[in-house]
Amino acid sequence: MAVMTNLEELKGFLAEPRRIVITSHINPDGDAMGSSLGLYNYLQPLGHKVSVIVPSNYPDFLKWMPSDSKVYIFPYQLSESQRLIAEAELIFCLDYNALNRIGDVGTAVAANPCPKVLIDHHLFPEDFARYVLHRVEASSTAELVYEFFEQLGVTDKVDADIAACLYTGILTDTGGFQYPNTSSKVHRIVANLLDTGIDHNKIYRDVFNSFTEMRLRLFGYSITEKLRIYPEYKAALISLNKEELQRFQVRSGDTEGIVNYPLKIQGINFAAFVADRNEVIKLSFRSVGSFDVNQFSRSHFNGGGHVNAAGGQSKESLDKVIARFEEVLPQYKEQLMY
Ligand code: 5GP
Ligand code: MN
Repeated sequence: MAVMTNLEELKGFLAEPRRIVITSHINPDGDAMGSSLGLYNYLQPLGHKVSVIVPSNYPDFLKWMPSDSKVYIFPYQLSESQRLIAEAELIFCLDYNALNRIGDVGTAVAANPCPKVLIDHHLFPEDFARYVLHRVEASSTAELVYEFFEQLGVTDKVDADIAACLYTGILTDTGGFQYPNTSSKVHRIVANLLDTGIDHNKIYRDVFNSFTEMRLRLFGYSITEKLRIYPEYKAALISLNKEELQRFQVRSGDTEGIVNYPLKIQGINFAAFVADRNEVIKLSFRSVGSFDVNQFSRSHFNGGGHVNAAGGQSKESLDKVIARFEEVLPQYKEQLMY
């Protein structure tokens, strides 16, 4: 098991009340919010002054977690967020591997010379933190936050509030315990989290079964009308343009999960989802098996992530992005035909 670098020093640092900021990546997902709020709910009662600051808004289906009301959304509470970051004595960087993943928050974080703590499981972390707990094999950053608690010797302090947050991070990043990253260790940690009395069935429903009618219709439309299959590459793509996003009144998080659907087709190993968001085209990639979507996204779409789940972006038009996707696919024919 990876141990946090300079752990004893960090323990000493946390022995006194500190001004602490916890940050996570842009377009926060269940693991970003779950790991951040899990850590917040541990640190805050110890007497530290803790703030969770995220670079952009996040889906309503994540807005029930304990202490959610304390989260700062950087562009919405700009001056307060900037002040908190500037005054921080310690900054946690959760679920991201590079400061450019936190948008404008990164500039403020880089401007504060205080020590940083990186807890993350994305490939190729940048070297900017004094304290690092990084493991690519970890299912989620929430799992690593639990390991951090193990290393601090404080798992007995994990109450139902902390557990609900960490459970959410693990649940979402394992796709409901289905992905290969769902190790026996994950199940052992989850067993401990369940023992705190959390209502796992309610968490599942809140996160995965809380669609609006429009969102479900958007999923249906995306699958029946917008799915392209490339059988010669065992690949598929779903795209949504601005008009379609408007027609279905798409809000933050509404498209999350669409990218997984093509992988339900037998013989499809690689799925892409492309949406024409404000100012930028956002791409999501998923694969089953060995095809490395992190590498694919890094090479062609200015992105990154994990081997089986990655994201990217482009400033080109939607049509150009789709054309580029189709143009580069043949390079990967051999890798995709397993
Ligand atoms: P999603 O497709 O759900 O947005 O992201 C899948 C994974 O890729 C997540 O772990 C996320 O952190 C990462 N990711 C998403 N977009 C980007 C991006 O633009 N750049 C990088 N480096 N990683 C991304
Ligand atoms: Mn994660």
